[in-house]
Amino acid sequence: MDCIFCKIADGEIPSTKVYEDDEVLAFLDLSPVSPVHILIIPKEHIQSAYQVDCSNADIVAKIFCVAAKLAKEQGICESGYRIVTNVGKSGGQTVNHLHFHLIGGRDFSWPPG
Ligand code: 5GP
Ligand code: ZN
Repeated sequence: MDCIFCKIADGEIPSTKVYEDDEVLAFLDLSPVSPVHILIIPKEHIQSAYQVDCSNADIVAKIFCVAAKLAKEQGICESGYRIVTNVGKSGGQTVNHLHFHLIGGRDFSWPPG
């Protein structure tokens, strides 16, 4: 499958990994929007949050566990941070493999633009 994040998960495309297990990979975003910007993905190809259902939802809970661990390691658990998943064109999704942005190290505004 021609998917950048599947290729990153397979090691075909290099990345700076910060967490890995059998099911989940976390790596630094190539174009960070904040001092901490990590992408957390399931190794299994799931297109977006819209394709999450009762058959594959466990991986999302696991990703949130990994996000909390990384937030602590990165020193942003006290200051606060944001976890974002973009869905589809209007949602701003550019890579069609489910991923969660863990961003922190600065203040963010709400609502988003
Ligand atoms: P999206 O716009 O789909 O929510 O997020 C995709 C993210 O993937 C972007 O923040 C972009 O910088 C990042 N990205 C795209 N290609 C690569 C890549 O080859 N390596 C890494 N590490 N990040 C990438
Ligand atoms: Zn993929």
